[in-house]
Amino acid sequence: MPNSFASIENSLSNRSSVSLARASLFKFLGLLAGVFVLASGSLVYLANDLDHTEQVESAFYTKKAVQSLEKSVRATVKDYAFWGETYKYLHVQVDPDWAYVRQNLGPSLYPDFGFRGVFVVSDDNRTVYSVVEGKLSSVAAADWLKQSIAPILEKAREGEQAETPITAFIDIAGVPALVAAAAITPGTDPTVEADARPASVLIFVDFLDSAKLQVMGQDFGVDGLHVGTPEERDATYFLPLGENGAAGSLRWSPSRPGLRLLGVGLPLIGIAALLVCLMTWAILRRTTASALALDASYTSLHRSQDALAISEARFRDVVEAISDWVWEIDAQGRFTYLSDRFDDVTGLSRIAWIGAPIDDLLGTEPGSLTQWLSIPNRRQDISLQCRYIDSAGRERITRISARNMSDTGFRGTATDVTEEVEARRRIEFLSQHDALTGLPNRTRLQEFLDGKLKALPTPEQPLVMLCLDLDRFKPVNDLLGHAAGDLVLNEVSSCLAECVRHGDLVARVGGDEFVLILTDVSSQDEVEALCRRLIESVERPIEIDQQQVFVSASIGIAMAPNDACEAAELLRYADIALYEAKSAGRNTWRFYAGDMNTRIIERRRLENDLRFAIKDGQLRLHFQPRYRIADGRMVGAEALVRWQHPERGLIPPDTFIPIAEESGLILSLSNWVINTACDCASRWPQNLFVSVNLSPTEFKRGDLVERIQKALVDSAIDPARVELEVTESVMLEDATGALELMRTLKRLGVRIAMDDFGTGYSSLSYLRAFPFDGLKIDRSFLSRLDQSEDDRAIIQAIVGLGRALALTVTAEGIETAEQLSLLKTVSCDEGQGYFLSRPLDSDAFDALAGVGEIQKA
Ligand code: C2E
Ligand code: CA
Ligand code: CA
Repeated sequence: MPNSFASIENSLSNRSSVSLARASLFKFLGLLAGVFVLASGSLVYLANDLDHTEQVESAFYTKKAVQSLEKSVRATVKDYAFWGETYKYLHVQVDPDWAYVRQNLGPSLYPDFGFRGVFVVSDDNRTVYSVVEGKLSSVAAADWLKQSIAPILEKAREGEQAETPITAFIDIAGVPALVAAAAITPGTDPTVEADARPASVLIFVDFLDSAKLQVMGQDFGVDGLHVGTPEERDATYFLPLGENGAAGSLRWSPSRPGLRLLGVGLPLIGIAALLVCLMTWAILRRTTASALALDASYTSLHRSQDALAISEARFRDVVEAISDWVWEIDAQGRFTYLSDRFDDVTGLSRIAWIGAPIDDLLGTEPGSLTQWLSIPNRRQDISLQCRYIDSAGRERITRISARNMSDTGFRGTATDVTEEVEARRRIEFLSQHDALTGLPNRTRLQEFLDGKLKALPTPEQPLVMLCLDLDRFKPVNDLLGHAAGDLVLNEVSSCLAECVRHGDLVARVGGDEFVLILTDVSSQDEVEALCRRLIESVERPIEIDQQQVFVSASIGIAMAPNDACEAAELLRYADIALYEAKSAGRNTWRFYAGDMNTRIIERRRLENDLRFAIKDGQLRLHFQPRYRIADGRMVGAEALVRWQHPERGLIPPDTFIPIAEESGLILSLSNWVINTACDCASRWPQNLFVSVNLSPTEFKRGDLVERIQKALVDSAIDPARVELEVTESVMLEDATGALELMRTLKRLGVRIAMDDFGTGYSSLSYLRAFPFDGLKIDRSFLSRLDQSEDDRAIIQAIVGLGRALALTVTAEGIETAEQLSLLKTVSCDEGQGYFLSRPLDSDAFDALAGVGEIQKA
């Protein structure tokens, strides 16, 4: 089995998808919460860090501010202490006037530097000069500072040599103060000489009160610099003043950027979290719903997985059981799969064909199979008929149906339809062809004709239609049987087919009727030449059971566009022309002419009338006497039929006998003639015979003997007084049958005469072979008798022949005395003609017959 039929993945969880969906959602939610916590944590951390940095920075700047203060106070105390004037006026002697009044070291120090206390402590540690808050005072430094100043003094004096002032922070009633002290020295003043006493010490005291701290804070960018209260003792960020913070500590309120960040960030995170919660809730609701649906589909998927397994098995069974073979090709059109049946059906090797292009195996009429497969939006329910050569080298036909396999190729089945197609082809052929001759039939003719007429033939390039009908075919069938008839038709068919060109059509449209369609004949001469060829070809004797059969053909011709442009009309006109050809004596052709139609209509009308005439007693029988030439005695009479038409009057037999023959009315007509003739003759004198004309068509009908017999019996006439006149065409068509029939007729006792001798191809051998009692020389010989010596010789020869064969020779159409006397000289037996007597009606003949003799001229 190919991979593509493999079962679907088994990775589907057994859990319900609702819980699955929920679980994954909660996981996701947990993850989100984690993200939020992390974000918040980071924010807090960042805020703390920011705050911490700010604090550290503030601490740094606070320290800087304090150091800066110390430095400036130290510089100030240094300027005043290491100066000769100060040494002179506040150490050597204490001159408040110089110091305070003249403001060298007096009230201005408070407003200018903020020194709230200015003290000079003498070598014996007494406070000798005090200025408090800019005012001269008498308070002792230690008292004002509320603590011992001995360490300050000691350190200040230690810096005497190096002229280094000292600073220290002390706590004065809860307020930190910066104390700067320096030993008073003459400085660089060379006029003042240092004495040996311990140095006096100048002390400046600067209170770090809130006003001072605020100014310091502002200078260094530290907000809210202040002295820390006892409550703030645990604070992390502070600057201790003095040793271990003995003088208190400085605190500040730095801006808290972290806090601000938290103030903005946390609510944002909170809102985001809230939104996520809301969304999650919504998603959860949806997910639950779709998961429920999914659950349902999972369930059905499980079911369909089972079904898939079953259907796979079913597919496998079917693929191997059906007569079709299954194929798959890749995108390049190469076989990737062929079912086992391939080998059985095609006889080819499946293994050998895998990997080979499908186009190499299967061919189609329009383009290649792969082209067909890749037609965009190709309807997948339509199959394509393809051909291939099987292992035995035979062409097979298979119907391919195919489905697209999403871009990877195609898959489909191949159904062998060779037999079906052949059967259909055979049926199609049979439906369009004549089973006997294999020629196209009327259906095919119609199709062909429609097609050719659609191409609009022109007078220069006309479409020629020939309607060909076999003459003398029916007797072949009647006398020799259908097998012989079939043989003749087959022979004639191949003759006709040989005469036309490729692209023309020969169709058999009836028993012995054929239609030929010619498109490559342009002139009338050409058509006539073809007709001649056709007739000659058909006339060639056909050998059946060692005897020769002769048929001939009559042809009617109609042409498009001259005669008609419609198939039906063309056929009708060709048929009319055929009728004309037959009327013109058969074995010939006629082109359709406009007046033929009216003639045909006329004929049809006559045919209808004739049908009625026979029953209605409109037929009359005239009798033309026949005389013995030697003595002029009447020997008998020829019965000649007439039609007393109520409107047209008396119609001669030449007009309606052919119609009767064509329409089959000849039998009933002839019956009437035979019966009437026998009936009339039976009342004649016994020495007179009656002669009756037989149509060639009825001569060959099976029941002629019975009909004659019946007439003889009914009229009770002596058969020897009845003569039957037949033409030689009877023998031409079917000599054997004619001979047999004539022998049978002879057994009835009737005489048989050959009528119209000399008009056809009559062979004298017939006369010898057939049991004739007499022959009638055609009147055409008589009419030429006067002018031609040859004809006289011929008549003499015929009379001689007749005598030799013991036949009664009768001359017809004697119109003159000369003719009669000539016949007399050649010893012709009997004669008939207007000169002797015109045909007479029954009454007239009876009157004549009563006389029995006529006077010779
Ligand atoms: P047919 O058998 O040769 O008959 C003789 C025809 O010659 C008759 O014409 C007759 O009137 C005509 N005829 C006789 N003497 C002369 C003459 O001196 N000069 C000329 N020009 N004609 C003469 P009809 O009666 O018109 O018959 C014509 C043909 O019709 C007959 O030719 C015959 O073949 C056929 N026919 C007549 N009656 C019957 C019939 O009852 N049955 C059949 N099957 N055919 C008949
Ligand atoms: Ca006759
Ligand atoms: Ca005749």
